[in-house]
Amino acid sequence: MSLISGWGRFPKAECKIVSARTQADVEAAIATAALIARGNGRAYGDAAMNRGQTLAMTGMDRMLSFEDGVLVAEAGVLLADIIHTLLPRGWFPMVTPGTKYVSLGGAIAADVHGKNHHLDGSFRSCVDWVDVMGPDGTVTRATPGDDLFDWTLGGMGLTGVILRAQIRLRKVETMYIAQETRALTSLQDTLDAFAETQDAPYSVAWIDCSDGPHHGHTLLLLGRHATLEDLPSRWRPFDVRQKRKLPVPFGAPPFLFRGLWLRALTGIYWRRGAKRAGHALVDWDSYFYPLDALSNWNRLYGRNGFLQFQCALPEEASAAGLAELMDTIAASQTGSVLSVLKRFGSQSGHFSFPMPGYTLALDFPASERSLELMSRLDEITLAHGGRFYLAKDARMPEAVAKADPRAKAYAAMRKQAGLTDRFTSMQSERLGL
Ligand SMILES: Cc1cc2nc3c(=O)[nH]c(=O)nc-3n(C[C@H](O)[C@H](O)[C@H](O)COP(=O)(O)OP(=O)(O)OC[C@H]3O[C@@H](n4cnc5c(N)ncnc54)[C@H](O)[C@@H]3O)c2cc1C
Repeated sequence: MSLISGWGRFPKAECKIVSARTQADVEAAIATAALIARGNGRAYGDAAMNRGQTLAMTGMDRMLSFEDGVLVAEAGVLLADIIHTLLPRGWFPMVTPGTKYVSLGGAIAADVHGKNHHLDGSFRSCVDWVDVMGPDGTVTRATPGDDLFDWTLGGMGLTGVILRAQIRLRKVETMYIAQETRALTSLQDTLDAFAETQDAPYSVAWIDCSDGPHHGHTLLLLGRHATLEDLPSRWRPFDVRQKRKLPVPFGAPPFLFRGLWLRALTGIYWRRGAKRAGHALVDWDSYFYPLDALSNWNRLYGRNGFLQFQCALPEEASAAGLAELMDTIAASQTGSVLSVLKRFGSQSGHFSFPMPGYTLALDFPASERSLELMSRLDEITLAHGGRFYLAKDARMPEAVAKADPRAKAYAAMRKQAGLTDRFTSMQSERLGL
């Protein structure tokens, strides 16, 4: 047994870890006991934890073929390895989350979204097929349009074990991003700026929720892949070296995440960013994965760990819903130094998280106070027709999950297909999926 957790370090539990290196290992594990597959443990909560059997997939990490931007790889390969191998040849993932340390299986199971969801959709938009091992060891190749594909993409590992997949990558001329930073001072200005820049291939906003919607200082980062013409003449288009990481040896004192300290920190961050507003050429790692520069930054919140809250709100309810969420967070005087706001475009699939509108993600130190606040944020989200991201969840009650009408259909399908007693996670048990 090993004591493990997700990235938020909450909850922690003793789980039996079984490692898979081959398809036969996966088959043997499924035949032995109920399990959940685990990728690189970057989901924040308990989605990739099963006390009885947690199947570690990072040993199945072979890239099997690559031609003309089409990659076939095993589920345990990390996005970081794909980028380091293929970016020097001019290929970059079509869709990437805010960390490159996710496995292909984890990206598929959570159907992750990136800063380009408003134009390119979620990870599924680059997946041609996925091989899934079911409860009796049978492997099914699911393609877009199949029910199994639709439930697996966003299904959080509960349809079976993803063994391998074929994905398409994006051709790029350089490893740089032409970035434009806009410094804004309210939620409304931010939403107006998102609307005005919806053709920008990538966009993300770092928004200060500690001061309420009318003073919600924001740094909106827009980006596009730089072309050869954009580069100064002496720059090489690809120079994909591993950067040194700064360690985070221990947690920051808890008072930093409260009251005036929190306001001071967010203020400093905004003013620093605002000074650099305008156009710049930045490398892929700095633009897409700023948090990866700190190793183990999840230790920042101290021993108890932290919780993420990420909701999506429909387009028509976004302005009112976000304003109420920000008012409530500001009044609580607790919460994340940096909250992330992104725009979502259209979305297909049976259980994937995004919906056309906006998504807000925030961190909270794990505490009773945060749990109470997050329950109020749940209510506001539900009152505005929104939903929650299971890859970030560690604490939702079953009733909240069931408020998403798709959850009942998912649980019913799982039961009918005989999946409920073979593929379970601490999260699926908590949420009754
Ligand atoms: C710093 C940071 C930034 C992030 N930014 C974003 C973001 O911008 N957008 C976004 O969408 N997400 C984001 N995430 C969440 C992250 O992308 C997802 O949680 C992703 O699923 C993690 O992949 P993993 O390989 O670590 O999977 P794990 O955390 O190990 O597992 C996640 C889920 O995938 C399932 N799974 C993993 N491998 C398999 C497999 N082979 N077969 C079946 N199921 C499997 C697990 O059962 C579990 O349900 C972020 C996370 C971090 C830490």
